Amino acid sequence: MKDYPRFWRPGNKPFNPLKLAEKTEKIVCRREENKVSRKYTHFYVAGVYRGIVTACGVGCCLRCFYCWVPLSRDYPEHYGKYYTASQVVQNIVKLARKYRVKKARISCCEPTISREHLLQVLDLIEEAKEIKLFILETNGMIFGVNKSFVKEVLDYSKVYVRVSIKAGEPEGLTWRTGADGDFYELPFKAVEYFNEEAEPLKRFHVAAMTDSRIMSSREREKIIRRLWEINPILAITLEEEIVDPYDTTLIRLEKAGVKIFK
Ligand code: SF4
Repeated sequence: MKDYPRFWRPGNKPFNPLKLAEKTEKIVCRREENKVSRKYTHFYVAGVYRGIVTACGVGCCLRCFYCWVPLSRDYPEHYGKYYTASQVVQNIVKLARKYRVKKARISCCEPTISREHLLQVLDLIEEAKEIKLFILETNGMIFGVNKSFVKEVLDYSKVYVRVSIKAGEPEGLTWRTGADGDFYELPFKAVEYFNEEAEPLKRFHVAAMTDSRIMSSREREKIIRRLWEINPILAITLEEEIVDPYDTTLIRLEKAGVKIFK
């Protein structure tokens, strides 16, 4: 675990996010015969999307300095318990019944890090009558090198995908996420694949962290232009995110030496 990237700090060597995904998968996933378990810390109902059952998973392949998720992102070996897909969906369904919520998601992590676990969860979500919609939030890195994975998740009728773009240029990716700038194209590639396979807004849309405190208007325009080239509707409907001062975000901003809150 000596070389495992934790908080992003100035001077850190940029990492390969796909390699980090593989390393993280080894920590947060466990195989028992054909079942793949993944670590989760807790399950709850969040107010976003007008109420959504949230399975808080462990592990990501980026180190965004504005990230709000628990410190399990940085120390995945110390947080969470392993849950099989069926245990995850049982917990989701229990909360959905209790709070009369019909949506679900996996959050606090990058859900695509374990393809097999995610697909096992989606198999069961598809069968669960309590859940009408599963929102798959992703940074798009893994989908960007896996068109077959894009097709697989779109085969599930309840899945709606939200791809979150972190940068419009290589330097921006490294500064905000710690990842090597050579990989900044991957989320756009993921968006291209989704656009080839599905109708925007019916099955997916794009978000981007374009907060002017951490992104220049030039870089923001590059993102919008790039999305426009893929499909103008994606640029017009871009969901623009801003940084909120969660406790974990403040810790990460401080480690990165970025001051945006007084
Ligand atoms: S903001 Fe999302 S992509 Fe970035 S580190 Fe946090 S969980 Fe990962």
